[in-house]
Amino acid sequence: MKKVFKKYKLLDAEGKTYISDTPGLLGGNKKLKIYGRLDCSSANKWIQKGYYVQNRVFFADEKVAIEAGYRPCAVCMPDEYEEWKASQMKLTLNKK
Ligand SMILES: [Zn+2]
Repeated sequence: MKKVFKKYKLLDAEGKTYISDTPGLLGGNKKLKIYGRLDCSSANKWIQKGYYVQNRVFFADEKVAIEAGYRPCAVCMPDEYEEWKASQMKLTLNKK
């Protein structure tokens, strides 16, 4: 069987697009700066409606998404979202 080398557009930690041989593990919304699972029910609902698609980005993993300034999706990654929320609160307190 012939192997198909598909190329994937991913976003790096600086928010720049690059071409990868492997698909991203996480999807994201460029406009809202949110990342989440590829099968996120909330994201897919918007994609089906035709919104979101032009803002759809992909990340190799969670670390890259965070470094690019994205936050976890509250719908499909509730644990990560809670952690993010707690860390944001800490940041605010530290600024004082
Ligand atoms: Zn989600």
